Amino acid sequence: MSFQHPLESLADLRHEFGEHGGVNLSIEASSTFTVMHASTLPAIFQGKRGPEKGGCYLYGRHYNPTVYVLGKQLAALEGAEAAYCTSSGMSAIASTVLQLANSGDHVVASDTVYGGTFALLKDFLPAKTGIHTTFVDVTRLDEIEAAFTERTKVLFVETMSNPTLKIADLPKLADIAHRHEARLVVDNTFCPLVVSPMAHGADVVIHSLTKFINGTSDIIAGAICGSHEFVESLMDLHLGSLMLLGPTMDPKVASEISLRLPHLGLRMQEHSRRALVFSTRLQEMGVPVIYPGLPEHPHHHLLDALRNPEFGYGGIFCLDMGSSRRANSLLEKLQNHHHFGFMAVSLGYFDTLMTCPAKTTSSELTDEELRRSGIAPGLIRMSIGYTGTIEQRWNQLEESIREVGFHPEPIHEEHTPDVTHSRAHIRVAGKRAS
Ligand SMILES: *Cc1c(COP(=O)(O)O)cnc(C)c1O
Repeated sequence: MSFQHPLESLADLRHEFGEHGGVNLSIEASSTFTVMHASTLPAIFQGKRGPEKGGCYLYGRHYNPTVYVLGKQLAALEGAEAAYCTSSGMSAIASTVLQLANSGDHVVASDTVYGGTFALLKDFLPAKTGIHTTFVDVTRLDEIEAAFTERTKVLFVETMSNPTLKIADLPKLADIAHRHEARLVVDNTFCPLVVSPMAHGADVVIHSLTKFINGTSDIIAGAICGSHEFVESLMDLHLGSLMLLGPTMDPKVASEISLRLPHLGLRMQEHSRRALVFSTRLQEMGVPVIYPGLPEHPHHHLLDALRNPEFGYGGIFCLDMGSSRRANSLLEKLQNHHHFGFMAVSLGYFDTLMTCPAKTTSSELTDEELRRSGIAPGLIRMSIGYTGTIEQRWNQLEESIREVGFHPEPIHEEHTPDVTHSRAHIRVAGKRAS
C-alpha cells in the first residue's frame, strides 16, 4: 500500500466551499437537522444512512458538517480512512480505549505516557470499568510482548515520549499488537507531520489538537483517526463512546482549527529548525541536552527511519541544568528578564513554553520512577516557538545559561519531600498538565 504525502492528501481534498461561495468552509451552527422524508429516519437511526451514505445529518452530538470536514482534513493529514474530532485530547483517548476494550479487558501501555493518560489507565479505568493496564518500557520489545494476555485489546504508545523524547518503534509495535489481535493506538500529539504512524502500522492515531495542530494555545480539542469502521463505531447510537459520552467539538472551534491546518507544515518546519539549531549549540556549549535530531540521541536513527524528512525532528527538546534550583533560576531569567518564552505547561505554541517536568508535568511519578525514566531534577522541557529571530533568541538563551551557570554533567540532587507524595498531592490539588 503506498502512502501519500500528508500535505498532498490534504491538498487533494475536495474543496468545501462556504454556503455563499466563500473560500472558507461555512460554520454549520445547527444542533439539529431536517429530513425531507420521514421514511429516512429509521435508517439514519440504525446507522444505515449518514453523511457519506446518501443520508443526512441527524443531530450535532452525532455528526456536524463543519466538524465532519475538519475530521476529513485530519484523516488526510494522518493518512487514515476517517477521523472525528472531540472536545479535548483526553476525551479522544478515553473514548478510544472505552470503544476498544470492555470490562475485564486489558491494555498494554508505555510507562511514559502523558500524565492524564497515565492516571486514566492506572487509576480511573480499573476502578470504574475493570479495564486494567500493564505499563511497559516502550523500548523493551520483549517486555511488551510478555505483558500481553488473552484479554489484551490495546497497545497504547506515544510516538515521542514526554519529556525524554524516546521514539516508539512503531512497525515492531504494530507487529506485536497484531500478532495478539490487539490494536496499536498511537498518540501523535508531539509530532504531527513529522511522523505518520498510520504508515507504520498504527490502527488508531490520536491527537490533542490543543498543541501543535491548533498552535495558538487558545483551544482545547482532540481527534481520533482510524478506519471508517472504527470511526463509525464511535458514533453508533447504541454502543458508540463518542455518541454516548458526548465529548462533542463545537463547530466554531472546528472552523478555527481548520483555518490553521494549511500552515501546520510551515510551522512544524520552523519549530523543528529552531529546536535543532538551539540543541546543537547547547550541546557545543557542553550543556546536557536531549533532542532526537542530534546524532547522539539513542533513537536518532530510528526517528530517521520513521519520519517524513522535510518536517525535521520536532519542536521539543530538553536541557539539564543539573539542579532544580538552577533550572528555576534559568526559567525565571528567560521569562521575566529576556521575554524568551513562558514558564507554562503545554506545547506547540508560537512562543516558547518551558517547564521543569520533575516538579510539574511528571510530578505524578515517585522519585524512583523519575530516576528510572531519566527525568533529572534540573531537566527543562522547551517547546520552541518561532517568534523573534533565531540569533536574538539564541543570545537570550546563551546569556541566561552562562549567568546561571551549569555543570557539563547532570547532577542528581535529592528530591525534596514535597514531590515524593505527589500522587496524593495531585488528587488534592487537581494538578494535571501536559
Ligand atoms: C496535552 C496532551 C494530551 C491531552 O490533551 P488535552 O487536549 O489537554 O485533553 C494527551 N496526550 C499528549 C501527548 C498531550 O501532550
